[in-house]
Amino acid sequence: THALSPQQVFVGNGSDEVLAHIFMALLKHDTPILFPDITYSFYPVYCGLYGVDYQTVPLADDYTINPADYCGKPNGGIIFPNPNAPTGRLLALDAIERIAQANPDSVVVVDEAYVDFGGTTAIQLVDRYDNLLVVMTYSKSRSLAGGRIGFALGQKALIDDVRKIKHSFNPYSLNRLSLLAGEAA
Ligand SMILES: *Cc1c(COP(=O)(O)O)cnc(C)c1O
Repeated sequence: THALSPQQVFVGNGSDEVLAHIFMALLKHDTPILFPDITYSFYPVYCGLYGVDYQTVPLADDYTINPADYCGKPNGGIIFPNPNAPTGRLLALDAIERIAQANPDSVVVVDEAYVDFGGTTAIQLVDRYDNLLVVMTYSKSRSLAGGRIGFALGQKALIDDVRKIKHSFNPYSLNRLSLLAGEAA
């Protein structure tokens, strides 16, 4: 449990659906968003589908994300998995905080699909940064990929926006059996 209120939680049909809503509605479309040059291959696909401009940021030679590369650069939003995929390299919590702090006008999305395998979740930063969204899934660490259970955690205003998109797209996206399975997991 993470001590968030229900208003800070959005549940979707797999985190891919959650990410799709975020790309459509929360990342700016006219200022390039930033993500690493080696990362989850779905990000550029969403950009193509929704017409979101993007710029990839090269990883360091040891395949780590350098937080300084995401600070002080105008952008329409920032997204990266933590740990990153397929590199498996983990960014420390203070680095994520630094990125959130340096980009108060951008939504910063931390895709924590693999965090249960050995990382610290950024959930504890959610109450302090209104621009931070943490996205999680039960597809990997809970082996429930077929249940399609993904969620986003953030402050109410951001979560409300994701909910609005869902209600204009597929209001009942997650079936009741999966909700029960997710609760049990
Ligand atoms: C697997 C994965 C997802 C999506 O998983 P869902 O099954 O849609 O919840 C999102 N991001 C990353 C980095 C992944 O590896």
